[in-house]
Amino acid sequence: MSARIIDGKAIAADLRARIAAHVRQLNAAHGLIPGIAVVLVGDDAASQVYVRSKGAALAEAGIRAVDHKLPASTSEAELLRVISALNSDPTVHGILVQLPLPEHIDMHKVIAALDPMKDVDGFHPLNVGRLASGLPALPPCTPLGCAMLAKSVHETLAGLEAVIIGRSNVVGRPLVQLLLAENATVTVAHSRTRDLPEVCRRADLLIAALGRAETVRGDWIKPGATVIDVGINRVTAQGQSRIVGDVAFDEAAQVAGAITPVPGGVGPMTIACLLLNTLRAACAQRELPAPEI
Ligand code: NAP
Repeated sequence: MSARIIDGKAIAADLRARIAAHVRQLNAAHGLIPGIAVVLVGDDAASQVYVRSKGAALAEAGIRAVDHKLPASTSEAELLRVISALNSDPTVHGILVQLPLPEHIDMHKVIAALDPMKDVDGFHPLNVGRLASGLPALPPCTPLGCAMLAKSVHETLAGLEAVIIGRSNVVGRPLVQLLLAENATVTVAHSRTRDLPEVCRRADLLIAALGRAETVRGDWIKPGATVIDVGINRVTAQGQSRIVGDVAFDEAAQVAGAITPVPGGVGPMTIACLLLNTLRAACAQRELPAPEI
């Protein structure tokens, strides 16, 4: 193996520690405790795990997290009433609605009902539009984490050829905007891209977010490139279940200059960036300067 392993766990721990220090300072100087409401509708097992791990990180950073666990039978109108109450609660600076929502609820309607200043997931159309226009916005947490990991390797992303595989609203599309803001030259590949391996070989920075286990092979990677693997895929082989990324790690690590592992790469950064967005949202709502973190 020649690639440097990008230790997302350590980078995220460092980011969380800096956020916690800033939260302590805000409390001491302004009596401000950033608060987040975590709304979970139904009993999706994966969502419960995510909510628990987010809860632990929030508490550790000194952010007040209040869980709103609603039954799967909650109507759209009831959920919208909960959102409206949270929008007007001054102790709540961030609202996270855990997705997916039950099928009878229109996710887009719920996201649009959030106060954009409290939209710590960065999915509200106003934040999406502001990000796309190069204006200050709350960006989605996973792409924000990817951009930070890339910047942990490269002093600047300016001029780099970046290839993103995937164009979802959660990862690929917002990442385009974040990398453009860093002056990278950005290509977005997707399921209809012709000759994906050839497109990937252009990349100084390759970000895989396609949700297909170990699809990106070693010979798709330009020697020395930085590879960020967003994928989380559960695979079972010989009766053993494990989590793998969208990149064939062992092969890719022979060729890449730096690479994120799965798990321990992008995942921990997503949670740390949720804390960061909550802190930023709290500062903006109290008209305090944005934290320099
Ligand atoms: P998604 O909504 O399913 O989008 C996948 C994207 O990949 C789509 O744009 C799709 O193209 C493209 N794609 C699918 N198969 C492809 C192929 N064979 N070749 C080229 N492109 C292909 O997924 P997502 O929500 O963005 O998530 C992507 C992965 O990241 C998943 O494994 C997910 O679990 C993981 N994830 C991780 C985190 C984290 O915190 N680490 C957070 C979010 C997501 P089309 O648009 O043409 O269909």
